Amino acid sequence: MQERTLILIKPDGVVRGLIGRIIGRFEETGLKIVGMKMAWADEKLAKSHYYLDENWAKNVFEKTKSTHEKEGRQFNFKDHMEYGGMIQKWNMNFLREGPVIAAVIEGPHAIEIVRKMIGNTEPKQASPGTIRGDFAMRESYEVANTKQRVLRNLAHASDSPETANREISLWFKPEELHSYKTLHDSLAE
Ligand code: ADP
Ligand code: MG
Repeated sequence: MQERTLILIKPDGVVRGLIGRIIGRFEETGLKIVGMKMAWADEKLAKSHYYLDENWAKNVFEKTKSTHEKEGRQFNFKDHMEYGGMIQKWNMNFLREGPVIAAVIEGPHAIEIVRKMIGNTEPKQASPGTIRGDFAMRESYEVANTKQRVLRNLAHASDSPETANREISLWFKPEELHSYKTLHDSLAE
């Protein structure tokens, strides 16, 4: 049940001065930070992080298409790999606009909880109370796609145990992750 997940505070979160508030939210839940650093990704890291997986491309394509259709806008792409490739490039460039905070968060159901706290991919759809909903709600597919740029949604979080393992090993060496006991751990015993 104990899981580890990777979060990134993307360059928009760093330049907006939201590092402390975002990290603070995870601390408050009782989840444990077991590794944390500031890093400026090179092209190789950005590409491995935004790895062009067919299922991911399908998911991005469907989420974007359904939002456009629901809001009565034309979505002119047919091929999910072509669309995914374009978003991957936007993501890689955006990730490298400045330094990011990378952290590994550990706890029971950490992957699910952190995803829930971050909120919907599109900040406009993210609920108030989530990080994207509270700090970026004016950001939408409509604005981002009209300007041909990525959704600036402040944070990334791994979406499954497989992606969490893969992403943690991209950003951290084993010796950069630490085991220790928090008060929450003691209280749960
Ligand atoms: P999430 O970050 O919620 O897991 P995805 O993994 O589906 O979302 O997409 C990765 C990132 O790509 C998103 O956080 C967002 O910044 C960007 N993105 C996804 N779809 C689009 C889109 N249609 N237009 C612009 N940016 C997008
Ligand atoms: Mg994702």
